[in-house]
Amino acid sequence: MTSLITSRARHVAVIGLGAAGLVAVRELRREGHTVIGFEREKHVGGLWVYTDRVEPDSLSVDPDRTIVHSSVYQSLRTNLPRECMGYSDFPFVTRSGEGDPRRYPDHREVLMYLQDFAKEFKIEEMIRFDTEVLCVEPTPENNRNWSVQFKSSSGVSGEEIFDAVVVCNGHFTEPRLAHIPGIESWPGKQIHSHNYRIPDLFKDQVVIVIGSQASGNDISKDIATIAKEVHISSKAVASDSYGCYDNLRIHPTIYRAREDGSVVFRNGKVVFADAIVHCTGYKYHFPFLKNNGYVTVEDNRVGPLYKHVFPPAFAPGISFIGLPFMFFMFEIQSKWVASVLSGRVKLPTEDKMMEEAIAFYTKLEDLGIPKRYTHFLTDPRGNPMLGTFKPEDAVVISQSDYFNWIAKQCRCTYIERWRERLYNVAIKKIFFGGDSYRDQWDDDQFIEEVYGEFAKLKSNQDCSS
Ligand code: FAD
Repeated sequence: MTSLITSRARHVAVIGLGAAGLVAVRELRREGHTVIGFEREKHVGGLWVYTDRVEPDSLSVDPDRTIVHSSVYQSLRTNLPRECMGYSDFPFVTRSGEGDPRRYPDHREVLMYLQDFAKEFKIEEMIRFDTEVLCVEPTPENNRNWSVQFKSSSGVSGEEIFDAVVVCNGHFTEPRLAHIPGIESWPGKQIHSHNYRIPDLFKDQVVIVIGSQASGNDISKDIATIAKEVHISSKAVASDSYGCYDNLRIHPTIYRAREDGSVVFRNGKVVFADAIVHCTGYKYHFPFLKNNGYVTVEDNRVGPLYKHVFPPAFAPGISFIGLPFMFFMFEIQSKWVASVLSGRVKLPTEDKMMEEAIAFYTKLEDLGIPKRYTHFLTDPRGNPMLGTFKPEDAVVISQSDYFNWIAKQCRCTYIERWRERLYNVAIKKIFFGGDSYRDQWDDDQFIEEVYGEFAKLKSNQDCSS
């Protein structure tokens, strides 16, 4: 398939109009392609469209349940500073006189930013809202085209043929659950953070929160405002430690749950709990993909993929944006996909892409990095989840290197130095910055420089328009 691409405009479907799909649509159109975006909901913004609704099955294990897309809870603020979240040519700056001006704003502010982006680049005119993609498969008579089958909530269904499909369906809707021996007969209530909105349900209760990453951290503190006790079960805590903070305590992982309502931690502590909240992350999930097993999800590795984007056997007809999940990553991946589809940038042969993908997986295995962290690109020196790695290994998993590699392919701007610096500090702050990491900064002068860059960008944009 790769060698057959010639330089021309393609007819492209984009599935999902969250932060990834919005920028994908823009980049594809900029490159001259005709684009149709399919969005299951009635609005752009994806994850950031907050809703009070939750799924009827609080652990979201029933495959036939009614899906609620968003996993945003009412008190959510971003876990990165706004400056480093925005797309490169549309800075995420404070809106004059309205919204949340904080550097780590609430979820409404992010949604407004995405809505502004859609408006600025007239993206909505290319979207079919309220239209769920049910099936994507190569056409049988011509393996170079893709059939997209869809259905609206009013029951209208259809099929359309595209030259290419760009998958941007989001990765925070299908929960992962921790395996807890004995949980089947444990009598308390359980929910996954996907179905958590407000703490009221836990008033005066004893609650165990599993997971101490960004959501686990936020949600445990949210619940602690109203619950009797909150016990966090964390992989990051050594088996004999027992932290304490008001009504919030930190334990190691759970050893087992018992019929009498008790939960035993690996340090031997026993807690009788009313509820368990699983903040244990999400699974990549592509229920609409019918491709004879060429792309699989195995322990949360979507593969085989060339550089997290193209399955070698189908490239460039199908691509994935946003497996590593940062707005600026979505933008650069979209530029790459758009320029490969037009033929301006070439991919290696299928064999070479496959070789590269396998070499990457082998390297991760040699480093002892579990499959589920395959798409988790970050500076290994800053991420406690990935342990300690030698600097020469950074090239395997560093986000900046990955970003700059793609930028080189499509001959566009490398990651801004300020963004790289700010991002690396911000990631460390999530893990080591304490409770007030969002509000305590001492980088005023540096941020002034960043805003200077934004002002220059604006004045260049004004001159060229
Ligand atoms: P989504 O925003 O989930 O959008 C996917 C879209 O696809 C949705 O609109 C959905 O309706 C649509 N869709 C899905 N399936 C179909 C289908 N079959 N047919 C049609 N449409 C479909 N990142 C940050 O940078 N900063 C943060 O502070 C931050 N906080 C986060 C907090 C939480 C709780 C979570 C879960 C994630 C957070 N993230 C954060 C990471 C997040 O990945 C990104 O912010 C980003 O919004 C994800 O965008 P997306 O477009 O990939 O997915």
